[in-house]
Amino acid sequence: MTVWENHSLSQLTTFKVGGLARYVVVCESKEDVSEAITHAATHALPLTVLGGGSNVLARDDNYEGVVLLMRIPGITYKEEGEVVTVTVGAGVEWEMLVTECVKKGYWGIENLAGIPGTVGAAPVQNIGAYGAELQSIFHSAEVMNAQTGEMATYDAAACEFGYRDSVFKRNRALVICSVTLRLSKIATPRLGYGDLAELVRSGAAMDTPEHIATNVRLVRAKKFPDLALHGTAGSFFKNPIITQELFSTLTQKYGAMPSFPAANNGIKIPLAFILDKVLGLRGYRDAYVYLFGNQPLVLVVDEGATARDIDAFANAIAKKVFDATSISIEREVQTL
Ligand code: NAP
Repeated sequence: MTVWENHSLSQLTTFKVGGLARYVVVCESKEDVSEAITHAATHALPLTVLGGGSNVLARDDNYEGVVLLMRIPGITYKEEGEVVTVTVGAGVEWEMLVTECVKKGYWGIENLAGIPGTVGAAPVQNIGAYGAELQSIFHSAEVMNAQTGEMATYDAAACEFGYRDSVFKRNRALVICSVTLRLSKIATPRLGYGDLAELVRSGAAMDTPEHIATNVRLVRAKKFPDLALHGTAGSFFKNPIITQELFSTLTQKYGAMPSFPAANNGIKIPLAFILDKVLGLRGYRDAYVYLFGNQPLVLVVDEGATARDIDAFANAIAKKVFDATSISIEREVQTL
């Protein structure tokens, strides 16, 4: 286990802002995770887990606690007939896992190409894109409870998956150490979502998982900023799910808007549509912070921005949305 003292969180998060963390413990094994938990308990400090730092807003103030930097490596594959069981260390880059799996011709993970972050972070918000969600390929996760020090296996039911949601968001003491997925050798393409259906119509090759992943990456590259070049955490807010009543009120007021059926008779609407077409906020900027021109759901910052700037900007956007639509939007990005 490696311990860094007073380490800048701006170097560990893709927003590239944040103060110093009192301790950062780099964990490359379950034993390291256990030691990091002990380290926090010994120093009577809070513990927080960080993977790729791509969905986190670190505050400007120093963090008087222990950051467990998840870096457990390793991918193992087990083929049984057409089913492939893949067990992955929580510190593996999600995108690296996707690249390996699609190259091997395994189906199920291809629509989730191009998502930043680590494998351990994927169940936390049940990552999803283009009609695929982690939960549909999830088998189990090895989880250490930082409060009890116990290791347990969580199946899909125990994870309580929802739309960009899971038990891991509600109980921050749960540290995911490895994830097991179930992929398939049988072709199961999901090409119904607009952007992918459009590619199919234009004749793009979409016959293998590798082709689909490549095309998903191309679509994403046009919409989302490059994390290596911009300070950003991707989509900052969740797409809201609203009631039928509110949806009819909004369409009466603002005209037709895209909508998709959601759980519990709700209606999911792309927040980007509201930000762009209802509020005219595409590219909207306040000092160092702005909404990305190609996808206004994404908040981007210039060098020099602080977490306070981002927080204030996001609150102002949420207020504008609420004032115009009565929708209380939720953040996808978590504050550390
Ligand atoms: P998009 O494709 O423009 O879609 C915007 C919203 O409309 C999303 O809520 C999406 O639902 C919904 N939607 C679009 N087509 C749909 C269909 N045929 N059936 C049901 N719902 C539909 O979104 P985007 O911002 O460019 O992002 C592309 C994809 O990446 C989306 O699927 C988005 O959710 C996903 N994404 C995921 C994360 C994450 O997991 N943290 C972050 C950024 C983007 P869904 O959200 O259910 O797909």
